[in-house]
Amino acid sequence: DRLVATAADGEDQAVEAALRPKDLGEFVGQERVREQLDLVLKAARARGATADHVLLSGAPGLGKTTLSMIIAAEMGAPIRITSGPAIQHAGDLAAILSSLTEGEVLFLDEIHRMSRPAEEMLYMAMEDFRVDVIVGKGPGATAIPLELPPFTLVGATTRAGLLPAPLRDRFGFTGHMEFYAPAELQRVVHRSARLLDVEIGDQGAAEIAGRSRGTPRIANRLLRRVRDYAQVKADGVITREIAAQALDVYEVDARGLDRLDRAVLTALLKLFGGGPVGLSTLAVAVGEERETVEEVAEPFLVREGLLARTPRGRIATPAAWEHLGLVNDAGTAG
Ligand code: ADP
Repeated sequence: DRLVATAADGEDQAVEAALRPKDLGEFVGQERVREQLDLVLKAARARGATADHVLLSGAPGLGKTTLSMIIAAEMGAPIRITSGPAIQHAGDLAAILSSLTEGEVLFLDEIHRMSRPAEEMLYMAMEDFRVDVIVGKGPGATAIPLELPPFTLVGATTRAGLLPAPLRDRFGFTGHMEFYAPAELQRVVHRSARLLDVEIGDQGAAEIAGRSRGTPRIANRLLRRVRDYAQVKADGVITREIAAQALDVYEVDARGLDRLDRAVLTALLKLFGGGPVGLSTLAVAVGEERETVEEVAEPFLVREGLLARTPRGRIATPAAWEHLGLVNDAGTAG
């Protein structure tokens, strides 16, 4: 339940439907993916064909689900949404595939977490629009081939490299989603504020954008918290000061670090002189589990160039000293 978590919580899910861009024109940023996808979809429409299978890779909250819905909308097709972990058995996948209508978009989130048998069934479905349904068990089992209507699979994964090559190769198009630049997130915030009927200035939107870790989902979440603050503590209008004050209260700092991130960094600097220090020692110093430090805090710190993982242990970069306003042993800040 961190404010800067990348996964959607219940409240996110409730509002995200209302905030989702409905077509490619409304979708902010990701120029390359947008342009390429636009061509793929236009070409398919011109041929009167079902669009090629699309693989979207990128961190959570960058807009993969949104893009899959846009693909369906642009193709005038219905969409079915499911995820790798939800498909336990190949039979679950067969049931979904056999109920698709012609041209339907099947969005498969976390496709890298599908079971092996389901994955193999998917190969054939993607390539030949056919599945073999196994009926019976043991020596008496028979495979009954089942024709499928042509459909478009949109697979989403955090990293395309996690997918086995045979699966990756069956996608006609792969889009790599990047973290958003602050100016792009500022546009996302403005757009969401308009939809939520919140008054916000450019500077206020920039302040929220700067703390959103390159992720639209986080930007939308911070916007809602700042809106609450503006309504309770001010006249409801979000200025730079209001946004900064609100997010200070929620302990999301100017660079988007939260309390846990800062605790890790502070321990590394103050207790271990900036490292190198082993992960376990660092975790004990912070009073957290190893996994929490490694999987929850570190990825963003590494991405921000504040912390480095080396064979000798974790070390702080000069930017870390600077960010926390501390001076290292050599007497130089930053
Ligand atoms: P993912 O599937 O990658 O986890 P989502 O598609 O669910 O991410 O996006 C999370 C939230 O961020 C949605 O509410 C959506 O409105 C917003 N969002 C994502 N990308 C964009 C974008 N490019 N422009 C505007 N809003 C976006």
